[in-house]
Amino acid sequence: MTGIVALRYLLASGGFALATRRVRPGLYAGLDAQIRREIGWSLLSAAIYGIPAGIVAWGWQEHGWTRVYTGWSDYPLWYLPLSVFAYLFAHDTWFYWTHRWMHRPKPFRLAHAVHHASRPPTAWAAMSFHPIEALTGAFVIPALVFVVPIHFAMLGVVLMVMTVMGITNHMGWEMFPRRLVHSSVGNWLITASHHHRHHDEYRCNYGLYFRFWDRLCGTDRGLSEKAWANLPGRAA
Ligand SMILES: [Zn+2]
Ligand SMILES: [Zn+2]
Repeated sequence: MTGIVALRYLLASGGFALATRRVRPGLYAGLDAQIRREIGWSLLSAAIYGIPAGIVAWGWQEHGWTRVYTGWSDYPLWYLPLSVFAYLFAHDTWFYWTHRWMHRPKPFRLAHAVHHASRPPTAWAAMSFHPIEALTGAFVIPALVFVVPIHFAMLGVVLMVMTVMGITNHMGWEMFPRRLVHSSVGNWLITASHHHRHHDEYRCNYGLYFRFWDRLCGTDRGLSEKAWANLPGRAA
């Protein structure tokens, strides 16, 4: 499972890094040493994420553990999108509060500083975490599958959203059209221009997928214009 997580990371981050070279040439210029560190930390995180995921996948196959189901009629159809939303919301909630905690001085120095060494972040920074931080995130989905029923394919959707948003939110440019990002739905979703501001200003925009907790707790400072710029530091 560690191999799968690592391969998924290398392929997906590599793909978006390649896209960045095409769409925003020069955006990662001078960041080679940082990117090497991001890849190193991310591969270490892959090893950590792979362990609980592997145990749960084995238990599901061999012993019928977990509430992952495969029959399309096991639950009503409306439950399919609802389960995806429930997983993302639960993950987002866990992430928001542990992330805020990690911005306290001691846990920041000990663990979270590794993630913030990405200034500006790149498509390779998606899993660039200190092992302590990787551990706080490694058990969320493996724990949820024991509690909240989900169709196998919808679990795939959750993992895909997790992978794609984790990478694109760090890649330094906004891939979604400005009209969508500023729409009433976009106002509640986190994309690159939101998370970029977190890497710039640290004490705001802590969320992962949704702006719900940031808005509720007054930590939402809005979007970064840099994500629309052609070069880091230059406003669009
Ligand atoms: Zn980040
Ligand atoms: Zn942070």
